[in-house]
Amino acid sequence: MAHVLLIEDDEHIRTALQHTLQRLGHHVEAVGSATEGLSIALQGATDIVVLDLGLPDIDGLQALKMLRAAVDTPVVVATARDDEASTVRALNSGADDYVVKPFSVEHLDARLSAVLRRTVPSLPDAPIAVGGLRIDLDGHTASLDGTVLELRPKEFSLLAYLATHAGRMISKDELRSVVWSNSYGITDKTVDVHLSWLRRRLGESAAEPRYLHSVRGVGVKLVAPGP
Ligand code: CA
Repeated sequence: MAHVLLIEDDEHIRTALQHTLQRLGHHVEAVGSATEGLSIALQGATDIVVLDLGLPDIDGLQALKMLRAAVDTPVVVATARDDEASTVRALNSGADDYVVKPFSVEHLDARLSAVLRRTVPSLPDAPIAVGGLRIDLDGHTASLDGTVLELRPKEFSLLAYLATHAGRMISKDELRSVVWSNSYGITDKTVDVHLSWLRRRLGESAAEPRYLHSVRGVGVKLVAPGP
């Protein structure tokens, strides 16, 4: 069920579409001009716009460009112009889909649903999980067995990179380049020191590793500890 803005100057079509879309459960605002439509769309409460291309005040393609410049609301263009060129122009101008008149309301509703499914805002990345480790890249937090880890920024970056590539042996060169961007003065020793800090945060040591396994002269890998 969506908040639909219908911009259509033909009163007969507009009223019929509005009533049928409302019967299908949508909330519909219906207007007869691009100007009225734009002012409603810019308020930001609209989920999807159905835009007639042949409007009396502003050309539909122009209205589409104005809309696109201001908001991300998906737009389905409804056009009587069944020539390919205007459809292509509408899609190039930012329309998400189109329907060619005459169309059934069921057909329009199916297109609206498909566009709305595609434009669902993307969810944040799921946390990375390795054994009891949880690393939330978006929130910049990490926990071990449910306890939040207090990490300095470089320690977090190091842990996040190793966990993202869990199971792969990572060289110190690679860590220097990814975690420290090859900053001047960063040596293998710097990497070693940070790794030992990170081990301490994880409650382990090089002699008794659980998550962080180093191989001298090769690198380090992060793995889930065995049972
Ligand atoms: Ca029209």
